[in-house]
Amino acid sequence: MQAEIIIIGAGMAGLMAGRVFTAAGKNVLILDKGRRIGGRMSSRRDAGLLFNHGAQFVTAHSPIFKDMCTEAAAKGIVGLWPATGRDMAFSGQPSMRDIASFIGADLNVQQEIEIEQIVRLEKGGFALHAKPSSENEPAPYHCQHLLVTAPAPQTAQLLQSLSPPLSKIAAAVHYAPSWTVMAELQEIPDKLAPILIDKGIIGWASCEASRPGASPSGALTIQASAAYSEEFLEAPAEKVTADLLADFAHQQHITAPNWGYQRGHRWRYAKVIKPAGADAPFMESQTASLLATAGDWHPVAASPTRPASGARAEEAVLSGHRAAREMLQKMPA
Ligand SMILES: Cc1cc2nc3c(=O)[nH]c(=O)nc-3n(C[C@H](O)[C@H](O)[C@H](O)COP(=O)(O)OP(=O)(O)OC[C@H]3O[C@@H](n4cnc5c(N)ncnc54)[C@H](O)[C@@H]3O)c2cc1C
Repeated sequence: MQAEIIIIGAGMAGLMAGRVFTAAGKNVLILDKGRRIGGRMSSRRDAGLLFNHGAQFVTAHSPIFKDMCTEAAAKGIVGLWPATGRDMAFSGQPSMRDIASFIGADLNVQQEIEIEQIVRLEKGGFALHAKPSSENEPAPYHCQHLLVTAPAPQTAQLLQSLSPPLSKIAAAVHYAPSWTVMAELQEIPDKLAPILIDKGIIGWASCEASRPGASPSGALTIQASAAYSEEFLEAPAEKVTADLLADFAHQQHITAPNWGYQRGHRWRYAKVIKPAGADAPFMESQTASLLATAGDWHPVAASPTRPASGARAEEAVLSGHRAAREMLQKMPA
């Protein structure tokens, strides 16, 4: 398989970059190891319930992302979510993954392809080797230019021998983990706060029915605080689920909660807490081939009043946009 440009990762950064390359008429292929598009913009449908267990909402403060959210809102894909108490906070209506699908519409994306090794070719370009499936050894993917948007630890590993300087920058990035519980409250009390923020061991909890466009349901997404997630990172999901459900009931004053569906999910790398520096290089050129990196860990500030933190999906979008624009400028016409 051959493409002029390959992007590793179909999260917000990779999809945005794919859009920029496609708009410039480039032949671009996006490869992602996950089953579905979107990376950490993830939604899960199970037992007739919808849970958004990754990013809870997106904020739009840059002209690029504001325009995108406005377009997606006009199509009914996103809506403002005032219950968050944040300015310009949008939720999918009601699936967060739909935001990623909107950005990635019409792009050439292949899912369930995990790149294990990247080799620089003497004549220029790269050969990407995917993890073999049980039946066959896949042929390598070839490209002239490569953009890697995997989370920093995976990027550091992939680029270890290919580009020690870019790998070192990625290796210095830190993330906070997040234990997340998806659960159903079968009897919904009259007074239920739609969102809890920083209460007890809960960092964030959403009643999924409070999202714009959501149907009534008792689906809850409860995310532990960073401190709890760090302390109990290796604990069994059953213990974490029990802890978070008990605290949710306590915080919401529910004396005899009737729990149905329950599932715990551990994000080892949820939100960036130490991003790459603002001046850290993200691109290099050798033998007429560009190698670049992007993602929330290489964030771009959304506005002069919002310094880049790395913890927001918008900054991943802007990082993908910046990387693609700069690669286009350096590519031979
Ligand atoms: C629990 C949680 C809550 C959050 N809450 C918010 C919030 O409320 N608001 C907000 O703005 N942000 C939030 N975030 C952060 C936001 O989700 C991320 O900043 C953003 O989605 C990152 O996008 P990305 O493209 O940089 O990375 P990702 O979404 O991680 O995409 C990277 C992709 O690379 C793929 N990949 C990795 N390695 C390989 C490989 N070897 N081969 C092929 N593919 C590979 C992965 O499958 C993944 O799809 C939250 C994140 C989590 C986990």
